[in-house]
Amino acid sequence: MKNLKLTFLILALNLFFSCTHEQNQNDSQMIEGDFSTYPVYEGKDLEMTYTKEATTFRIWAPTAKAAVLRLYDEGIGGKPIAEHKMKKDKKGTWLLKLDGDLKGKFYTFQVEVGDRWMDQNPGVYAKAVGVNGLRACVVNLAETNPQGWEADKRPPLANFNDIILYELQVRDLTISPTSGAKNKGKFLGLAETGTTNSAGYATGIDHIAELGITHVHLLPVFDYLRVDETKLDTPQYNWGYDPLNYNALEGSFATDPYNPAVRIKEFKELVMAFHNKGIRVVMDVVYNHTSQSFKSYFNQLVPDYYYRHDAEGEFSNSSGCGNETASEREMMRRYMIESLIYYATEYHIDGFRFDLMGIHDIQTMNMIRAEMDKIDPTIFLYGEGWAAGACPLPDSLRALKANTMQLNGIAAFSDDIRDAIKGHWSDEKERGYVSGKPGLEESVKFGIIASTPHKDIRFSMVNYSDTAWAKEPSQTINYVSCHDNHTLWDKLSVTNPEDSEADRIKMHKLANAIVLTSQGVPFLHAGVEILRTKQGVHNSFESPDSINQINWDWKTKYIDVFNYYKALIALRKAHPAFRMTSTEMLNTHLHFSHDESAGIVAYSINGNANGDKWKDILVVFNANRTATHVTLPPESTWTIVLNGEKYLETGIETITNGNLMAAPLSATILVDTQSVK
Ligand code: CA
Repeated sequence: MKNLKLTFLILALNLFFSCTHEQNQNDSQMIEGDFSTYPVYEGKDLEMTYTKEATTFRIWAPTAKAAVLRLYDEGIGGKPIAEHKMKKDKKGTWLLKLDGDLKGKFYTFQVEVGDRWMDQNPGVYAKAVGVNGLRACVVNLAETNPQGWEADKRPPLANFNDIILYELQVRDLTISPTSGAKNKGKFLGLAETGTTNSAGYATGIDHIAELGITHVHLLPVFDYLRVDETKLDTPQYNWGYDPLNYNALEGSFATDPYNPAVRIKEFKELVMAFHNKGIRVVMDVVYNHTSQSFKSYFNQLVPDYYYRHDAEGEFSNSSGCGNETASEREMMRRYMIESLIYYATEYHIDGFRFDLMGIHDIQTMNMIRAEMDKIDPTIFLYGEGWAAGACPLPDSLRALKANTMQLNGIAAFSDDIRDAIKGHWSDEKERGYVSGKPGLEESVKFGIIASTPHKDIRFSMVNYSDTAWAKEPSQTINYVSCHDNHTLWDKLSVTNPEDSEADRIKMHKLANAIVLTSQGVPFLHAGVEILRTKQGVHNSFESPDSINQINWDWKTKYIDVFNYYKALIALRKAHPAFRMTSTEMLNTHLHFSHDESAGIVAYSINGNANGDKWKDILVVFNANRTATHVTLPPESTWTIVLNGEKYLETGIETITNGNLMAAPLSATILVDTQSVK
């Protein structure tokens, strides 16, 4: 009984304190440095709300003693045309309402914390910014819509397993003179249709559509720091993993970086151009760190709040870029969610790829999934299930690859299959399955079943994972190359310099034949289908265009390779057996053969899997440099529909004696002959 009384007393006290907290909007219970005590502002009107009659500014700065808003005519330079004190308002916010039509005016905030005036900054929610992202701008978003925008729709998508990703950097696709585009390197350049190279082959967006891609994945297009937008006549390059203004777009992709509405409108043109081709658009988002630490806009408004720190109180650095954000903190979590909702609604973005997702906490990622589901459950979410350094938040709480089963409807990249196919990402001379390293068959199989629990996998033999990590096949992104590290073609040049170009092309085609026939979601690095090279530069994040650009003459030179990639995609799209939708379906229909020769990976998909018109399918990969014998199951005669050269739905060749001599360095797909008749 005593204990019960005590419980009531504590409950009553808690109630009393929470009531006083609610009533006390000046947040007197906040303990500076104890971030859990900082008030949470739940309103959606941070930081600028425009109407013709008045503009309202509200910043969240709970530790500030004073706050000032300055108005400017220009996005850079010049003196303020007005300076206004903001008033302390509810939940740690500061408020100012200015009458009149402020459209086109630029503004900054500045707060006093402790005995220090922090830097002027455009806030952290700015949706429109001037050149170099220094000042925010009052815009009327409704006026940034291009013609036809109201009718713009996401292209249909039945299933995440139907996705074929293509990762590109906006500038790379059109900056080369060979692209034939007018607006080279810009959002508008990539939106141009009808462009060709000198031989008349389609380039840019038409090329991507011709290949059969369903989703383009754009490297950072939000506003980043390290391209000087005032000097666009000087050659500059950066991938953009140095975020400055998360909710504003990068100015160097716009035809006019000084006019904040231009980049908004032109990016919408780009999204609409892809949608008109039936292609969805994914943004690479980098909420895990900011380009600057102490000087970042986050930190200039609420020092330390948005970041994790190490035991010494310094910025912790699991991003490898000098700091890491704290998604588990309420206002950072809300920030990410609101930013993503903004892109999904204002820009009709169809998916998000989270850079170093392993830095974010699992709870936040699941909340993001739930919020995206409210907008459209076909919005695709995936990320890198790792970090780039030690993190103060325990592994068990983070969206690491090993924790993917705790993530709802969110996928992770498979470094298992990536490095199994081509060799280790950083040990550059190490070979992989296609280039001659033995013993990787089980790791390749693990990729084929999209890292799900499967009866035939001997997990102890898999390179990086000792157990399945994906609950469902759509939680795995299978790939062999991306913007990081060597291109696939360069990697093969490093690992296999003594091999002929013809053999390296075979290895290259085999590598992505594995990816494009595997279960899960396949991912291609732009240009891989025309043997993209970066001249041996493995980290080209700030290399010049001459290294990063796609040279469209490669398409003429390697048109056979292009046609093979196109055929693999056509095969995948025509046959749902390669896009099974559940782990259960995979265990029922997909079976591995374990008694093949070294260098052979073989499996069957039986029983018209996932509604496929093909009843029985055999897939055989031969990584040997010699033709290798494979005994075919005796129940049927078999027809080859794909070999190392081509894909023919009606069959290339029929085998009646049950013996396949798999060609060197090639993929072969056979179908029971009845199914192709
Ligand atoms: Ca920028």
